[in-house]
Amino acid sequence: MSEDGFRFKGNLVITGKIECLTGLHIGSSKAELEIGGLDNPVILDPQRKAPVIPGSSLKGKIRSLLEMREQKYTSSGKPHGHEKDCSDKDCRICTIFGSSDDVERGPTRLIVRDAIHKGRIETEVKAENVINRLTGKAESPRFFERVPAGTIFDFEMVYQIYNTADLEHLPYLFEGMHLLEDSYLGGSGSRGYGKIEFKEITLTVKTVEDYKNGSLGRTIETIASLQQLLRETEALKEIRQVFDEGGNS
Ligand SMILES: [Zn+2]
Repeated sequence: MSEDGFRFKGNLVITGKIECLTGLHIGSSKAELEIGGLDNPVILDPQRKAPVIPGSSLKGKIRSLLEMREQKYTSSGKPHGHEKDCSDKDCRICTIFGSSDDVERGPTRLIVRDAIHKGRIETEVKAENVINRLTGKAESPRFFERVPAGTIFDFEMVYQIYNTADLEHLPYLFEGMHLLEDSYLGGSGSRGYGKIEFKEITLTVKTVEDYKNGSLGRTIETIASLQQLLRETEALKEIRQVFDEGGNS
C-alpha cells in the first residue's frame, strides 16, 4: 500500500468523441464469428436498440495493449492479474484496470462507460471472403454488419484518484488510449476494421469538496487529440494542482 493510503480524493472525468475511421464490428461473441453464420450482427444497446461500443470492450482492449507493451500478458489469454498471478503491489495495470486481488491496491481506478452515438446509425453489411486454413480454398463469403466509417460515439471514462501514485499513472492511461488508435477495436482488425480516433477530449476534475457542494468541478481543458494531450504537460500539472490545493480538506 502506498504511504498515503486509500482516501478518496476525487474523480477525473474524461469525456470526448470516438470517431470510427474505418468500419467497426463489435459482435456479441467470438464464438459467433467462428461458427460464422451468414450474419454477424453488431452488438446493440438493449434499451436504445442502437449500435454501442461497450465500456468493457474499450477497457479490455486498452488493458491488453498495455499488457503487451509491458510483456505482462498471460498465455491463457485471460487478463494479467486475474488469477492472483501479479505480485507487484504497484502494478499500474492491476491498479488502473483491476485484478482479482484488490486488497493491496485498493479499488479499480478506471470506470469506462458504454460509448453511444446520439441519433440513428445506418449500419452496412460487408461480405468477407474466408479462406479455409486446412484446404486453402475459399469458403462462401460471410456477411459482417459494421458501423460505417465516420460514425462518432460519445465516450466517458471516470478515473478515481486515491493517492499521488494515481496522478502519476494518468499519462499511462492516455498512452494506452493512444496505442488503441494504432491498433483496432472490435473484430476483424487484420482486415482493416476498427480503426478509431479519440477527439475533443475534455478533462474535468471533481474533488470530494465538489461532491459535497454539488459543484460541477473544474474543467481543465478540451484537447483535440491524444497526441496533443500526451505532449501537453500543463493539463496534467493543473490536475495535480487541484488535488494539492484541496488535498487535506
Ligand atoms: Zn499486475
